[in-house]
Amino acid sequence: MTDITVELDENSNLEAREALVLAYREMSARGLGVGASGNVSQRINSGMLITPTGIEADQMLPEQAVAMSLNGDCMVNQLLPSSEWHMHGAIYRERPEVQAIVHCHSRYATILACARKAVPALHYMIAITGSNEIPVASYATFGTDSLANAVVDSLRGRLACLLANHGQISLGCSLQQALKVAVEVEELSAIFWGTQAIGGGHCLSDAEMDEVKVAFSGYGQQRGKLV
Ligand SMILES: [Zn+2]
Repeated sequence: MTDITVELDENSNLEAREALVLAYREMSARGLGVGASGNVSQRINSGMLITPTGIEADQMLPEQAVAMSLNGDCMVNQLLPSSEWHMHGAIYRERPEVQAIVHCHSRYATILACARKAVPALHYMIAITGSNEIPVASYATFGTDSLANAVVDSLRGRLACLLANHGQISLGCSLQQALKVAVEVEELSAIFWGTQAIGGGHCLSDAEMDEVKVAFSGYGQQRGKLV
């Protein structure tokens, strides 16, 4: 790994590192992570801060966050970044509006990912992902550019997708939004799974979903919409 294209100012560096640790812990506290699986990142300057590989959320310290360029150049004297840094970097390169990413192996999303079943518009809250469907990105080995490319393709025009035989990934204009989307993806996956178990659900039509999107645009404290 080469020395460094990411410039960090000391104060925002510390603040961003603390925010990353809090988001990683929240992901774990909400039951989205299993052991050290899953990773969280946020965009900083020309690069990103990402969780290190192999450190569980409740053990991670702010100084262990890994600062790196979107192409994998790392600052020296750091831990190794999450093996999924390719995926995070590729998304930030393709989607300038995205500021934070949560990737996890949450149970129900992973069940559907292993069955390669996309989540349809069974519940109107799917609109939070910016789409009427949570698709499944094609299978590729974890930590590869092939997986990164497949995920970027499936995320086009939306904030979340499943990764075949792997898990889920959710985007946001902030760590809080990415977490919120990840929580919703898990809930929608559980609902889809449950309806499948009782004979199947009834999907909303595109017209019904269009109405939901209009209602969402004036609902709650929606800020920084990405799609
Ligand atoms: Zn993973």
